[in-house]
Amino acid sequence: KQVDSTVNLDNLAAKTAGSSGADLANIANEAAIIAARRDAKKISNADLTEAFEKVAIGPERKTKVMNEKEKELTAYHEAGHAIVGHILPDSDPVHKVTIIPRGSTGGVTWFLPPEDKSYTSVYEFKDILARAMGGRVAEKILYGDDGITTGAGSDLRKATEIARDMIIDQGMGTKLRDQVFHDDNGGMVFDKMTHSRPYSDATAKLIDEEVEALIREAAVRAESVIQTNRKSLEKLANALLEQETLEEEAVVEILKDAVLPKDARLHG
Ligand code: ZN
Repeated sequence: KQVDSTVNLDNLAAKTAGSSGADLANIANEAAIIAARRDAKKISNADLTEAFEKVAIGPERKTKVMNEKEKELTAYHEAGHAIVGHILPDSDPVHKVTIIPRGSTGGVTWFLPPEDKSYTSVYEFKDILARAMGGRVAEKILYGDDGITTGAGSDLRKATEIARDMIIDQGMGTKLRDQVFHDDNGGMVFDKMTHSRPYSDATAKLIDEEVEALIREAAVRAESVIQTNRKSLEKLANALLEQETLEEEAVVEILKDAVLPKDARLHG
């Protein structure tokens, strides 16, 4: 496919690290369609970026109407993810934050690794968990304990999945460090219950406790970051309400006064 001189392939390569060949073909096809729609003969960098985002997180749904209250909640929710990920030292940097509905979500905060990465440390996982909790925690701080919404449902699901993977597959528990409990037979949960769980009930209980401890620690760290930086959170949420989408440079500028509180720190 023909591309024009604005296209930055190194940048695209960094963003698509880990994508399959089919994903890449999909992005190229989308970009060609977007270019054709504006009657261009060559694909521009803007076309490619739009195509990449569409394939990675679903198309923008500008027609979906959000009322003012939900818009505000979404802005604070996304600002919560962004500020926690921005401040924690082992999180990837914020790439983009938007409160325009995309795919099935109300908004998106997007983190991208600066370079290709094959391994993830416990520190990095813990920062991923904390930033995933940032949306729910921001809602709680703004709207009170029971003012929280279903907007965090998929964040919590993802966080629990990561925490379980850390404990069961990666030997990253505290009490269960260096032990792996994955059941290679796969199959349905029902099967596992009836015949093939490779560990005792006591271990199953420990696994649940370890997962809970990880999620709890993540929520506490997210809350510490957000409480410490309430002013920055407010600034970011207001900027989102005004502009709807903020790129990395804008986020970094808005959060320039935000600090890492001592109790959210995991290492020196
Ligand atoms: Zn969220």
